[in-house]
Amino acid sequence: MNTESCPRCGRPAEESAPASRHRTGEGTLSYRRCACGSWLVRLGEHVIGATGTH
Ligand SMILES: [Zn+2]
Repeated sequence: MNTESCPRCGRPAEESAPASRHRTGEGTLSYRRCACGSWLVRLGEHVIGATGTH
C-alpha cells in the first residue's frame, strides 16, 4: 500500500516510470520524473523528496 505522491502537485508517483536507480547502503534510491516536471527521489518504498529542475 504505497500511496506515493508528488509533494508538489500531489499526483501519484506510480504513474511515472523510474528514470534511474542506485543501490545504496540504505536501499535502492530511484528517481522518477513527475508530470509536473519535478524529480521524485525515492528511497526503498518511500518518496523522500522532490527536486525541481526547471
Ligand atoms: Zn508532481
